Amino acid sequence: MVNIKIENLDFAYNGSLVLNKIFDEIKKGEFTALVGPNGSGKSTLLRCLDKILLPKNGSIYLNGKNFKEIDRKILAKSIAYVPQSEDEVFQSNVFDTILMGRKPHISWMPTNDDLEITAKVIEKLDLSEFSMKYLNQLSGGQRQRVYIARALAQQPKILFLDEPTANLDLRHQLEVLDILKNLTKKGISVVVAIHDLNLALQFCEKIVMLKDGKIFAKGGKEIITSKIVENLYGVKVKIINEDERFFIIPEKTQ
Ligand code: ADP
Ligand code: MG
Repeated sequence: MVNIKIENLDFAYNGSLVLNKIFDEIKKGEFTALVGPNGSGKSTLLRCLDKILLPKNGSIYLNGKNFKEIDRKILAKSIAYVPQSEDEVFQSNVFDTILMGRKPHISWMPTNDDLEITAKVIEKLDLSEFSMKYLNQLSGGQRQRVYIARALAQQPKILFLDEPTANLDLRHQLEVLDILKNLTKKGISVVVAIHDLNLALQFCEKIVMLKDGKIFAKGGKEIITSKIVENLYGVKVKIINEDERFFIIPEKTQ
């Protein structure tokens, strides 16, 4: 049973408050979409959840244990995080980069198991033809898939991904979200920051909306109404129901 509780979380960069009194709970096997305008605090919240950033006030608990008392190396056995983009492109090839995801589980040298897990993940993310290429020889979308693969190789119980589909073509967007959806069916919790509300509606069962560092609304798909989307983004939208699937269409601005 894996569970994360966020209680009364505040975060500030140099004194300016960016997350304000966040409360939430991430349950086992839940697929959550974190949405909200640019600058609303999505990436900051995900970085707090990987303990890269430390809160100003409030706490995060993993299975009842305060993050403060958990070493990041230990946390990495349970939690994986995929940033939106990596500033530093490692001078290593695809296979070795993904194998690095096994690090929290490796005590000395990688075992056959580690190599096998890495090879399987490479296949799953459609990276076989690139496995010996260096990361700087890949396109942005291919590199994004390598980082997602590295997180999967880590075999976490909770997976946080920051805009994982932003650089991907349509087929790979759907494939990555399908892979994540299948992980949730196995009991792994997944949280994605995502701008595409239609993809969020299609794949996620829980939506958390952030605005100005505060939780604006959260709940199941039913919370997505034209009024709430309008208030969140300041854009008029129409919601269309077709065969029990909902589509959000922006209205003309003038
Ligand atoms: P989102 O991911 O929703 O676009 P972010 O979490 O990146 O939002 O940013 C939230 C706010 O924090 C923004 O106002 C942004 O300018 C600010 N911010 C983000 N990173 C930093 C940083 N390293 N230093 C100072 N301010 C930052
Ligand atoms: Mg962001």
